Amino acid sequence: MKLFRTYSLSSYMISTILFVHLLLAPVLYTVILSVYNKSSSELFITHANDIAGILTEDLSGMHYSQQRQALINILDSAVLSGNIVFIDIYDNHHNSIKPNDALAVSGRHFIEDSSINQNNDGIYFLTVPLSLTGGDKLSFKLRLGFDETPLNEQIQSIKQHTIIIILLYVLAMVSFFTLITYYIHKPLKSLRQKSNTIAEGNFDSALKVASSISDIKFLSQDLEKMRITLINMANKMQTQATHDELTGLPNRYLYTDRMHQAVSLSQRSQQSFALLLLDLDRFKEINDTLGHGVGDKVLQILAHRLHKGMRESDTIARIGGDEFSIILINVDHAIAVTIAQKMIKLIEPIINVDGHTLNATASIGIAIYPDHGLTPELLLQHADVAMYNAKNNNLGASIYHADMDSDNYEKLMLVNDFRQSIGKNHFKSLFQPKLDLVTGKACGCELLLRWRHPQLGLIDPDRFIPLAEQENLIGELTCWSANQCLELFRDVVNAQPDFHLSINVSPVNLLDPKLLISLLDIIKNCDYPPQNLIIEITENVIMKNPVRSAEILNMFSQEGIKISIDDFGTGYSSLAYLQKFPITELKIDKTFITELTQDSANYPIVKASIAMAHDLGIRVVAEGIETISVHNLLSNLNCDMVQGYFYGLPMSFEELQNWLDDNREIKRFID
Ligand code: C2E
Ligand code: CA
Ligand code: CA
Repeated sequence: MKLFRTYSLSSYMISTILFVHLLLAPVLYTVILSVYNKSSSELFITHANDIAGILTEDLSGMHYSQQRQALINILDSAVLSGNIVFIDIYDNHHNSIKPNDALAVSGRHFIEDSSINQNNDGIYFLTVPLSLTGGDKLSFKLRLGFDETPLNEQIQSIKQHTIIIILLYVLAMVSFFTLITYYIHKPLKSLRQKSNTIAEGNFDSALKVASSISDIKFLSQDLEKMRITLINMANKMQTQATHDELTGLPNRYLYTDRMHQAVSLSQRSQQSFALLLLDLDRFKEINDTLGHGVGDKVLQILAHRLHKGMRESDTIARIGGDEFSIILINVDHAIAVTIAQKMIKLIEPIINVDGHTLNATASIGIAIYPDHGLTPELLLQHADVAMYNAKNNNLGASIYHADMDSDNYEKLMLVNDFRQSIGKNHFKSLFQPKLDLVTGKACGCELLLRWRHPQLGLIDPDRFIPLAEQENLIGELTCWSANQCLELFRDVVNAQPDFHLSINVSPVNLLDPKLLISLLDIIKNCDYPPQNLIIEITENVIMKNPVRSAEILNMFSQEGIKISIDDFGTGYSSLAYLQKFPITELKIDKTFITELTQDSANYPIVKASIAMAHDLGIRVVAEGIETISVHNLLSNLNCDMVQGYFYGLPMSFEELQNWLDDNREIKRFID
């Protein structure tokens, strides 16, 4: 139920004015009349008294009986003068002298009045004492009667005039206020109409109205300010809804819209357009190692570069974390490829963020409308396939081709299977022994994983490690395998304190601080001595990010964990540089070793590497030894440790235990 009814401003104003005047008018009327009544009655009485005074003056001293006729004449002339309707001279013996004009006295019965309109006889009677001569013992008075009719008529007419004046006044007031109301109402109505237009979503018309009333003027100014704020807010909200907050580029929502526009435009104009899908390579590494703050800045810089390098008519959008898409209107295959290559070039220059110098690369997949799809969804799917093709084959940019789908399908299936294998014990840990040429004894082993695929059988790490890295499952895999092995090797290392277990740590997850924390947890839970654990990392990861690597490696080292540089020789690092890091072991890559002879080009490299490492106090492992001749060469070069098929293939833990029982001594292989 409504408690208060609402009324318009004009009805409020007019009814208020009417109400006030309804109360005011009778009061005004009564006051005016009573004032007038009082003053005119007083005037009337004064006038009567004055006439009575003049008459008594004229009459006084005259002789009562001798001048009787003169007395009557004076009375007659008084009657003739007008409004005297009764007059006589009256003595205390009730005799009276009357004027000749009988009318003046006939039928009038004298009753003295003290005020006007007394005794309902229409006459104001008054008495004044009169001194006449000739009447001993007689006293006289002059009795007068004045007609009240003219006075009453005058009052009546005043009453009518007053009513008319009051009515005119009320009318004037109502008209005046109606006019004022109109002047207030008009700008208010205009403001209301404009506000309604805004409420309907049209923000364009200004909320300004001209008014000389300051309150309305200020109200209009305030509303106008509100409109501008609303416009700004609406613009901001629209930008937020359609643009990516970080880079300011269109987001997926706006991008999808532009894609549909591009399709219908190209349909009408019978022209082609290209869809480019750009994905930054290894962007996750930047985020994981340098933090999201740096990652965000890198994205902003790259988005800016890409945006600047494009035509106005093209759309570049950020559609995922490190994924951008570009719609190029009216271009064919050749131009699309050229532009994609230009984009790759734009990404390449060094990026300086917060004191870090970074290099980014990108892979671009291209799909062309209508050749590679007629709908935005299909085009995007095909650009995605082409992008993966570019990424997996290090092509930079790649244009979609139907053959890519089958390759991609297999890869997708494998990724899917791999995800499910994690945590299902579908991995097998193999161990390859490592022997110490100085002590002549087995001194450790390297953990090498295999994936037991339910249909495809054992899959080599070269195939599944990249998948694990790509799917961000590598950390989980490393920890899972470490957990299994440290438990197994605890007794082995306790029995032989110089025995070390080496595990490979992928460059992708080394710099993730979570790895160290998880590994330390596992070491503690398995009660495994950390000094008997070696992590193998490739030199490239150090070269790519020296500052962060030093930090992390120092942390490992402080916990007692040893660090080995794996695949040494395949990168471009110098030993002198690596010396700055807490490294205890160098593993010369098998490509230098397997075919090694004294005449081969690798021989001086291997020889120098061993000598230099020794100078720096670093021990050297040669991996990939398959023959006794290579073994002998390395032995002569004072290599510290050896590993390879010649001594043992990667094997299960049980097989390793047997191997250790039988082959702990190097002598067994050379005799
Ligand atoms: P890697 O660290 O260089 O490992 C040595 C590779 O050389 C192993 O291949 C091993 O089986 C092979 N090998 C050992 N002796 C010989 C030999 O005498 N001749 C020849 N030709 N090859 C030999 P595998 O097991 O296929 O592993 C390949 C790579 O996969 C490894 O290279 C390592 O980088 C990676 N990997 C293996 N397991 C893991 C793991 O658990 N985590 C990570 N992140 N990477 C792993
Ligand atoms: Ca290794
Ligand atoms: Ca290696």
